[in-house]
Amino acid sequence: MCGIIGYISKEKGVSKKIIHNLKKLEYRGYDSSGICLLKGNTFLVKKSVGEISNLEKKLDFDDDFNCGIAHTRWATHGKVSLKNTHPHLSQDHCWAVVHNGIIENFLELSEFLKTQCVTLKSETDTETIVALMALLKGNDNIKKLNEVTTMLVGSFAICLLHKSEQVLYVARRHSPLYVAKNDTSCMVSSDPVTFGEDFETYYALPDDCIAKVTVDKIDVYDKDMNKVCVSASEVGSFEKSAELGKYSFYAEKEISEIPKVVDTILSNYKIVDHFKKINKTFFRQIKKVKLIGCGTAYHACLMGAKYIQDYAHIEAQGYIASEFRYSKPLIDKHTLCIFVSQSGETADTLLSLELAKSKGAKTLAVVNVPYSSIAQKADVVLPLCAGMEVAVMSTKAYNAMLLVLKLLATHLSKFSETPQNIDYTELKKVNYFKDVQKIDQITNLVLKSEKVFFIGRGEDYICALEAGLKLKEITYINCVSIPSGELKHGTLSLVDNKSLVFVIATDQNLLAKNISSASEIKARGGKIVLVTNLDDVQCKDIDYVYHFDKITPKLSSIISIIPFQVLAYKTCLKLGYSPDKPRNLAKSVTVE
Ligand code: GLU
Repeated sequence: MCGIIGYISKEKGVSKKIIHNLKKLEYRGYDSSGICLLKGNTFLVKKSVGEISNLEKKLDFDDDFNCGIAHTRWATHGKVSLKNTHPHLSQDHCWAVVHNGIIENFLELSEFLKTQCVTLKSETDTETIVALMALLKGNDNIKKLNEVTTMLVGSFAICLLHKSEQVLYVARRHSPLYVAKNDTSCMVSSDPVTFGEDFETYYALPDDCIAKVTVDKIDVYDKDMNKVCVSASEVGSFEKSAELGKYSFYAEKEISEIPKVVDTILSNYKIVDHFKKINKTFFRQIKKVKLIGCGTAYHACLMGAKYIQDYAHIEAQGYIASEFRYSKPLIDKHTLCIFVSQSGETADTLLSLELAKSKGAKTLAVVNVPYSSIAQKADVVLPLCAGMEVAVMSTKAYNAMLLVLKLLATHLSKFSETPQNIDYTELKKVNYFKDVQKIDQITNLVLKSEKVFFIGRGEDYICALEAGLKLKEITYINCVSIPSGELKHGTLSLVDNKSLVFVIATDQNLLAKNISSASEIKARGGKIVLVTNLDDVQCKDIDYVYHFDKITPKLSSIISIIPFQVLAYKTCLKLGYSPDKPRNLAKSVTVE
């Protein structure tokens, strides 16, 4: 969500560098963008609403700049407009700022600024930051920044420029920020994926720290202005894995990578003992497990809770992070809290992790981005090994979450009375995309319907939840996902002859019950698509059966979502929407 780039160099040509790297942050989602370049003692500011290419068109001058900051905004305070687009300047035009996050006390700060005769020009919370910087007296700008950050409540990653200095002033609390350095330049960025071309190493700015970045030096300070030593991370293959290659869209590329991701996880977990710390003593100390996430990761939590409870016989439950935080959860040192997040920066999940830690819980992170805040803060990290995921709609990372949680549940079961023996090599033999071309026909059924429902029982209900999320997020079709058994308790009243109902059935024991739900729908005029990998499904009420490949029932939940990921993608293309960047959504939700 939103992106920050700051660039400072001994060489000219910085505005091109900034725009090039800002584009790499596009995947995070944004609604407007802007740049502030420093020349002599003056700022040159350009802003535009919509695509970064609109901003680029405005940069029709010689690129003889050495220093600048830029931003892709995802509006939280104030509508999407040029006035609200970052960078924002202080009243005296001495400071420029770009900001990711939310200043929660901005109303109080604005009131205070009014008493100091400062009138803010925009509706954003961000502008208060530069206004406060300009109010402070003295020449020590890093000290001023420290003082201002103590006045701010909320989450932020900020990068500031002062008109008379070739220096990038940066700060962060909860929102991520990174700095890289080579012989000629330094770059500040919200995501290390931008560093791949020009830098070999980078530094993750620690939480609640500030830094002064010049071409030669990066000085990091903590809240008390003590110098902090940060160790460098190498720009590795993850940071470089965001190339689109032969594909038209990231969504298509990422779905096609699922088999490779599964393979990578199985080999990586064989080579590296990620479960080393989860031994018998650890297991004996756990009385319950709570899995916490948002969106797709929440669905993975629901599935993971089932795996753990079934295999290891420990009470396990999935929670939505934004609810969990305010539910006064009962957590103590006997609770294992598992935080699931693709980006590892999801604000509500991160704050839930901090809450769990403060209550003494054991914490485990299941994340894709290895350098993320959640990965850094948890006691144990289980990497998803899915490679960079760019499309806003999560696909391969979800399959990876399910597999990693299943491996964890299998590992935990070894210490219980019912050790599980699962032949994971079956995942290497299965055809992940069996008959996917037939999904075109189902797409047509979706487009002809007014209402779409997804139903299932047990693991298939969780698949129904995720299937509904995939379809609605990139096709904007309103759909409902419910457990089959709940139909009669309300939702059946919505079913009519304009309805399409997907019945998901992968459990032989529950098949008869699912078939009777199908008959209830048929009796109300609804059309039914059965998605299954079971043989011999006999039911005259079903309009279309889609068979995905057979696999042992213990592993089918890892692949049963694939037809729906493909369905959402194909429907989106037929509707002419963007599968990678759905409206109103951002890839990593770093604000609450
Ligand atoms: N809260 C700020 C705004 O609305 C920053 C939002 C962002 O992270 O892009 O302008």
